[in-house]
Amino acid sequence: MADKLTLDIVTPYGHVFTDEVDEIIGSGSEGEFGVLPDHVPFLTTLKVGILTYKKGSETGHFFVNWGYAEVGPDKVTILADSAERSADIDVERAKEAMKRAEERLKKEEEVDEARATAAIERSVMRVQIAERHQVR
Ligand code: ATP
Repeated sequence: MADKLTLDIVTPYGHVFTDEVDEIIGSGSEGEFGVLPDHVPFLTTLKVGILTYKKGSETGHFFVNWGYAEVGPDKVTILADSAERSADIDVERAKEAMKRAEERLKKEEEVDEARATAAIERSVMRVQIAERHQVR
């Protein structure tokens, strides 16, 4: 019986995190899901959202940009388009990204609306996570 979970967060930009944790709460496309050791295996898609882990008295938060979670009895692998720890979120950069996307949407020439909207969604979520969970 597993009593710990290895959490691995991987993106095309590199390996973001790996550690043994007690519990994981993720933002699945179908809603929030919680994982404890010995969970039945499953695979789910992730939306732009927050991923939280608990390890003893420590709680950690990550911004996660789409992707997949593969859950096994002793391991959870997150494969995301991008991800960063709450403390590493650059709020100014996120706000700049939002401004750029909003400007693009305002222009009359052809705009990739879905792309601009997705950029705004990432920005809003990053700012939200940073404001709630960055240690200042
Ligand atoms: P930007 O336009 O500022 O690059 P983006 O939403 O297009 O924002 P992503 O494609 O999600 O960026 O991520 C690209 C890389 O930059 C990833 O490694 C991601 O972790 C990092 N990153 C993007 N925005 C931020 C931010 N506000 N704070 C910290 N890291 C960020």
